[in-house]
Amino acid sequence: MNCPHHIQWVTEAENGLHQCLQCFEAVAKKDVTPKFEELGAELQKRWDAHEARAPRPATPPPA
Ligand SMILES: [Zn+2]
Repeated sequence: MNCPHHIQWVTEAENGLHQCLQCFEAVAKKDVTPKFEELGAELQKRWDAHEARAPRPATPPPA
């Protein structure tokens, strides 16, 4: 599966994670389309605020 995890498909999930509704994978900032840096301050702030709700920093699974 080669999903771009477009930001419009990405929703907030449990434990401060974000999930792609298209492929149902957990996505990190570096995984989204377009680039996280280009999403705008509002969305970045919301992402960070949601991530901050995690019981501990989310670490991506080993590749
Ligand atoms: Zn996806």
